[in-house]
Amino acid sequence: MRSRPRVISSPRAARVLAAFTALALVAVPLYGCGAGNTERQGSNTGFDNIKKSAGSYLNASGKELARGKTEGASVYSVNVSLDTAGNQINGNEKVLYTNRTPGVLSDVVFRVYAQDAGTGAARRPTIVTETRVNGQAATASLASSVLDVNVKDGIKPGGQAEVSFAFSEPVPPAGQDDTEGLFAYGEGTFDLGYFLPTVVTCTNGTWDRRPLADWGDANNFDCSYYSVSLTAPSGYVVAATGVEQALKGTTHVFVAGPVRDFEVQASNQYKSAERQVGSTTVTSYYYGKDSKAGALALDTGCQALALYSQHFGAYPYTRFNICEAPIEPDGAEYTGQIQMASYTYDDSYDTDDLKGTVAHEVSHQWWALGVGSDAIGNPWLDESLASYSESLYWRWVEGATSAKEALDEIADNYTSARDDDVPDAPVEQAVSSFVSEDQYTALVYGKGVFFFDELFKLLGSSAFDKALSDYYAKNVFLNATSETLLSALRASSNGSSRVDELYQRWIKQVNGDEDMAAP
Ligand SMILES: [Zn+2]
Repeated sequence: MRSRPRVISSPRAARVLAAFTALALVAVPLYGCGAGNTERQGSNTGFDNIKKSAGSYLNASGKELARGKTEGASVYSVNVSLDTAGNQINGNEKVLYTNRTPGVLSDVVFRVYAQDAGTGAARRPTIVTETRVNGQAATASLASSVLDVNVKDGIKPGGQAEVSFAFSEPVPPAGQDDTEGLFAYGEGTFDLGYFLPTVVTCTNGTWDRRPLADWGDANNFDCSYYSVSLTAPSGYVVAATGVEQALKGTTHVFVAGPVRDFEVQASNQYKSAERQVGSTTVTSYYYGKDSKAGALALDTGCQALALYSQHFGAYPYTRFNICEAPIEPDGAEYTGQIQMASYTYDDSYDTDDLKGTVAHEVSHQWWALGVGSDAIGNPWLDESLASYSESLYWRWVEGATSAKEALDEIADNYTSARDDDVPDAPVEQAVSSFVSEDQYTALVYGKGVFFFDELFKLLGSSAFDKALSDYYAKNVFLNATSETLLSALRASSNGSSRVDELYQRWIKQVNGDEDMAAP
């Protein structure tokens, strides 16, 4: 995600979460007679076929990078219909989940972002029904954005469970109560960010049940395989993560994998333009009136995709989409697809800001989506690096002076917040631990970025590239922590203690006023 530059943003009203939005209607089916053996029955042929066809999303480099990294990845089979008159998604989802933890699991837990995505009196809750595990009725609860499905007899290590349910998600209007708009409708467009209930990570037997903060990204998922059949009314152009395998009437079948999430944009305003970059088709979807900005976004996206591939390692997929959208932040990232705020496509909007946002969101294909990291608990790891990658885009395209100008704007996220008495703090914190969105922006999109600039100065351009490309090659399709990144940086600095000193000084300690005076 990239926030609006702080200097031009209006103060954002605190989101008021109406109490009832925490409640959800969950049908709890009764167990039938003879329940008790929930061992998974039958073959995995359907899921195996999805994995095979989903693999067509990978290009040759992606196939190489994915080797040995996706054993036991979840497989999703989804049918959904988009009701544009009722502003609602109705569907059913079936997931083959494999227990890759060392202990028995008694639940499978999903993030249901739709339940958190809108507020206000008109908000209707998400409804989950017909929950089944291995074909038998199962109990489930949906609280805040966490759906907990009980597996009566547990899933042994290495064992599998097929979890299925039906869901109905009202799509809120964009801009309602100053929400982010990642999952919202407006301008004839449906932003379906995180619309699929998605299995959360399970670390040492503990599911990620953390509530989401009022800002920041929700992405903390393992890579999975998807087949998604989506029916939209005629006249709607549908852009999605993955490859469109079939189109029957107005039913689009997309397959994608291994991917960290699955996103859809559907609009009756979209025109599109596309271009080939190596083995990747890049498509820009834009409103008819915004063809100039749509073309600029395509140029920039192609350029950024090629440059990051050259410096950090190959982009792994055959498609990449850039989609104009009625979102609140400048941009937001998903696997193989980004949302670009429609206000950034206005003729009056600064074209360098538009290009910077595209570059930032494209770099998330390496940092957040390629190499996974915990965007909820440790956002600096992807966001500070994506913001630094934005400055690298300018360095590679226009030279050191443009990179310095981009970094000056990034520094302003910190200094302007300090001018308003937003307190300095450690950069490495959970999104919910920052005292305000302004502090989160100042530190994660401001001060933390300069840790990477100090490293760039320490290592020099080629060792810096080598550290990041090693980090990417080893961890793409997997999940990284701060330590994973630090070990790659140490290896490229011949084990210099400076890497850890800089990490302590810029990320863990509170020296911002001194260090940001002359970064
Ligand atoms: Zn970002």
